[in-house]
Amino acid sequence: MKIHEFQARQLLATAGIAVPPGTMVTSVEEAHTAARSLFSLGSTQVVVKAQVHAGGRGKAGFVRVVNSIDEAVAASNFMLGNRMITPQTPPEGLVVGRLLVADAVAIAHEYYIAVLVDRAQRTNTLIASTEGGVEIEAVAESRPDAIIRVPLDPILGLQPFQARSVALALGFKGKAIAQAVSMVTKLCALQRSSDASLVEVNPLVLTPPTATHPDGQVMAIDAKFAFDDNALFRHADIEAMHDPAEENPAELRAQAFGLSYVALDGNIGCLVNGAGLAMSTMDIIKLHGGEPANFLDVGGSATEEAVTEAFRIILSDGRVQGVLVNIFGGIMQCDRIARAIVGAAQTIGFRVPLVVRLEGTNVEEARRILDAARVNIPTMQSATDLDDAAAKIVSSVCANA
Ligand code: GDP
Ligand code: MG
Repeated sequence: MKIHEFQARQLLATAGIAVPPGTMVTSVEEAHTAARSLFSLGSTQVVVKAQVHAGGRGKAGFVRVVNSIDEAVAASNFMLGNRMITPQTPPEGLVVGRLLVADAVAIAHEYYIAVLVDRAQRTNTLIASTEGGVEIEAVAESRPDAIIRVPLDPILGLQPFQARSVALALGFKGKAIAQAVSMVTKLCALQRSSDASLVEVNPLVLTPPTATHPDGQVMAIDAKFAFDDNALFRHADIEAMHDPAEENPAELRAQAFGLSYVALDGNIGCLVNGAGLAMSTMDIIKLHGGEPANFLDVGGSATEEAVTEAFRIILSDGRVQGVLVNIFGGIMQCDRIARAIVGAAQTIGFRVPLVVRLEGTNVEEARRILDAARVNIPTMQSATDLDDAAAKIVSSVCANA
């Protein structure tokens, strides 16, 4: 599960990490009020930021540092009235329904810092760079040496010497060293205690020297979290931050029917039972030169209604140019799938090629049902095994392309 930046800032602040004050708003009027209050409290600049589960906002004009209430209102109008399109969003972009209006800090330097579950190292890894900000992806590509990686002991976690060496490697001086050490330490502790698979602060900033802070202040001004869904049951406060408006609508519908569905980029819709079979089906489609449009596991005990819903979800995806049904009936009864195919053909219609491979419990009954309905489902072909099924759907989709 992901959360919004304003929620991430709350978690950081609760953990004792310095974050500038700000308010989440959902309308231009609220943005006006929030900006007025910040300016009247002494802010010289305010930042208006779109709250969506995608990055790259700065480059797309969805993070604006403003000097007046009027500018804050104009920025809010723009962000709430336009879809945000960045390399991290779908091509049609995302609707922005929430904004963060926050005190904008002066920046002497932008750093990058993150803690994540590092599967390759089989532990959590702390990642840091002096080259933080909106170009971090490009830096990681062109100058991997500019990225510091510190694997953390799975049992001991971050050691104090590691926190100090990272703060020094980032070039912090004077009193800013202790601030950076404290920030890194708290961030690692928060990642662990919240069961986050990723905690990223980009940028972490050092503010310019002032009379009260001659070495500047270390602050987090953007933050991103991803949590392990399987651990959410022990974090009711984090689970409550879930925003359904940010989820793929098809994935939410599937969830409501107990289906496990993940949208992908290809054009062959898959309806499979069992996660393992679903993975092998995707593999074999790729082996035959096709691209799956989704992962869909209807599970063992899905009702006919749920399977029909699964077809509705697959067929309502405009990119789907063919459907492969691959069922191995153990607990799942093949005749239930056959009835759902017939039902889906009647209520939704298969305008695209459909290849069906069924095996296992009640397969004879399933074949009878499909044979009887064959005239009404002209795009349907049967397959004898998985290989045959993948070959047939890939060649049908290519022939139609
Ligand atoms: P992202 O592009 O979605 O990662 O959004 P960020 O919150 O990281 O903002 C992008 C960039 O906007 C940052 O790298 C900063 O350069 C700038 N920015 C964001 N907040 C502030 C702020 O409070 N003060 C100043 N001066 N610049 C900011
Ligand atoms: Mg950022």
